[in-house]
Amino acid sequence: MEHPENDELYRGLKVNKGISGVPTVNPYLTKRLQRKEYSPSEFVEGILKGDITTLSQAVTLVESSKYEHQQIAQEVIEKCLPHAGRSVRVGITGVPGAGKSTSIDAFGIYMIEQGHRLAVLAIDPSSERSKGSILGDKTRMEELSREKNAFIRPSPSAGSLGGVARRTRETIVLCEAAGFDTIFVETVGVGQSETAVHSMVDFFLLIQLAGTGDELQGIKRGIMEMADGIIINKADGDNVDKAKLAANQFRNALHLFPLPESGWTPQVLTYSGYYKLGVVEIWKMIDEYIAFTKNSGYFDLKRNDQSKYWMYESINDTLRDTFYHTPAVVDRLKEAEQQVLNNEISSFVAAKQMMDLFLGNISKNV
Ligand code: GDP
Repeated sequence: MEHPENDELYRGLKVNKGISGVPTVNPYLTKRLQRKEYSPSEFVEGILKGDITTLSQAVTLVESSKYEHQQIAQEVIEKCLPHAGRSVRVGITGVPGAGKSTSIDAFGIYMIEQGHRLAVLAIDPSSERSKGSILGDKTRMEELSREKNAFIRPSPSAGSLGGVARRTRETIVLCEAAGFDTIFVETVGVGQSETAVHSMVDFFLLIQLAGTGDELQGIKRGIMEMADGIIINKADGDNVDKAKLAANQFRNALHLFPLPESGWTPQVLTYSGYYKLGVVEIWKMIDEYIAFTKNSGYFDLKRNDQSKYWMYESINDTLRDTFYHTPAVVDRLKEAEQQVLNNEISSFVAAKQMMDLFLGNISKNV
């Protein structure tokens, strides 16, 4: 029936007939919800073809803490392993504002121009607190994020640093199997995360800035010792001389360190990520390092050491997880903590009691 307001009396107003059965769910969403669940072999097939959507979905499984997801993820990783390893892995660290994202954008575009395929991953231990990592964020790498040969993935956010790092380590395997021959792992230069990144890359790059006063202040000795190359960013405009001065200070400081196990003397270069100056030289340095260490055998030695390290890390993680999820332990833990606080038992006795409880529980279940 025509609407009464469509009567001639109601000028300037036309009411149309409604439509029946307005969809309550966005049809696009229903389609998405019905998305097919891939089997591990389908994931592997897609990854080996270099399909980015499949790769992203597999990485999501790797990052998931759900048991079912982990089961699939581990199978996919295992099947991808024979196709992994053929890449150059570069760790990039620097304090916030040092120019990590600007530099990764510049380095990445350069690598892609050279015909490489690049994956940018990140480890951000603070991301759990802040609910989302700013590292490896696409919006920070404007040019690179438009490149089809670049895969950018922010830091996994769930769990401890060890857990986050392990997931990134596993993601490297998937990216390599998908044909990415250059991997960047970004981290913030403020603490433990460098050690984690160092244990999964071939070359560790430290981004520094020229500042006022003593350039070396505030840089942890350990981080400098890990670096295979130190690059002083923002060597542009009025800052060029200051950057060169800082580079000299770093070179002098490095002389005081013993020669690294690799036999490679870490180099110090100045550059400008923003104006893309000195990028070629940085890559020449990395290429030289890779050739040098492959020639000496150190490249493979380090990768083997890293594999061993990750095996133990994984065991430690699993042990810790199992311990803290054992119901008998969970039931008693708070009580033991209180007894320690009340000085009724010592920390060590409490720890021993908890371990006995845990181990007793395990042997019962075997
Ligand atoms: P991040 O926090 O380490 O990722 O640092 P960003 O890449 O976000 O850079 C921090 C600020 O420094 C931004 O405002 C950049 O535009 C600026 N910046 C980065 N690289 C350079 C450079 O080479 N020269 C100059 N002058 N500024 C730069």
